Amino acid sequence: MPGFEFFGNEERKEVNDVLETGILMRYGFDGPRKGIWKARELEEAICQTFGCKHAQLVSSGTAALTTAMGALGIGYGDEVILPAFTFVASFEAVLSVGAVPVFVDVDDSLTLDPQAVRNAITQKTKCIMPVHMCGSMADMDALQAICKEFDLLLLEDACQSIGATYKGKKLGTIGDAGTFSFDFVKTITCAEGGAVMTNREDIYLSSDGYSDHGHDHNGVDRGADLHPFIGYNFRISELHAAVGLAQIKKLNHFLAIQKKNHTALKNALATIPEVSFRRIHDESGDSCTFLSWFLPTEEITKAVVDELKAQQILAGNFYWFVNNWHYISKWDHLKNALTLHGLHPDLKAAVMHHATKDFSASDAIMSRCISTAIGLMWTDEQLHNKAEQLVNVIKKVLSEKKVG
Ligand SMILES: *Cc1c(COP(=O)(O)O)cnc(C)c1O
Repeated sequence: MPGFEFFGNEERKEVNDVLETGILMRYGFDGPRKGIWKARELEEAICQTFGCKHAQLVSSGTAALTTAMGALGIGYGDEVILPAFTFVASFEAVLSVGAVPVFVDVDDSLTLDPQAVRNAITQKTKCIMPVHMCGSMADMDALQAICKEFDLLLLEDACQSIGATYKGKKLGTIGDAGTFSFDFVKTITCAEGGAVMTNREDIYLSSDGYSDHGHDHNGVDRGADLHPFIGYNFRISELHAAVGLAQIKKLNHFLAIQKKNHTALKNALATIPEVSFRRIHDESGDSCTFLSWFLPTEEITKAVVDELKAQQILAGNFYWFVNNWHYISKWDHLKNALTLHGLHPDLKAAVMHHATKDFSASDAIMSRCISTAIGLMWTDEQLHNKAEQLVNVIKKVLSEKKVG
């Protein structure tokens, strides 16, 4: 799954290029840097690899989402529709620009249920933010149609689905903007980093300035740059970009391994009739970082998780339903709007209202779902053993439940 499994001489070489000049910053110092521009090079590689017109590197996936929000003009009075199953970063970014995160249910694709999205649209809705969770895609045709019908922005959180595609297009390049995370456990890593991708020049130019204190980057003298609007510092360093540059060249290799291991594991689990799988809107576009599967009931799923724990083989299997970071049921800090800084009372009330709605449709899906992370370094033997262990645990629990 994560690119850090393949850290090697290629990454060291790129980092050393930067260490040799000592210019660790991505902007300026044109002479001393001796032609080394790792962040720029990585941005070009992102455009090439994913087929988008523009890419803006930033310091994290969260910063990428925040930057995209700013560049899309999302803020005060706006509502952003996002799924109840996502990483906390998605709503953090919405809150950071003063907008209201409006959570809606996911379906058995583990992504936004388009009907739930429709039901949540109000006069204040400005943006739909699908999150392509666990390596695979939201229903982009349906969501694009809704955005068109209601004149809404589409921002893809593709942080977990680097290299996945939908009908031939890379996830993260389909909407008005899309984001990647290159944190340490993502498909490719910079240690910490992120990117905003867009085909719209205005969004790109705004992202470029927003992530660097509003600099217009129009001259060679940073000090003489103009600041057409207020920005922040979400810059990536050259050292981080250097790691990513080595990693992006390995992406196709990672994806091929994931596909192979994912297929083998899926075939093994598919021998159990009670196991079903996540709906994938475009099977050929799955990046296969996870295999997500369902059991018939919450009770059986919990028993399988307990048994995996008892046998000390739970690692790498994620039961998101009870996870503190990825599912709304555990987000008490959000439900109580526990920010360190004050919020406008109306915003606070709206945040709390939307975080405490009924998500029983999502519960019914998430309570039966386990995602198995696909390793890049598994030997055939390890893969075989993992599949066998999982199958045995599931069969054991199913037979006990039947007898009981
Ligand atoms: C990892 C992740 C992010 C945030 O990325 P960071 O680089 O860790 O800030 C955002 N959204 C999703 C869905 C993620 O998985």
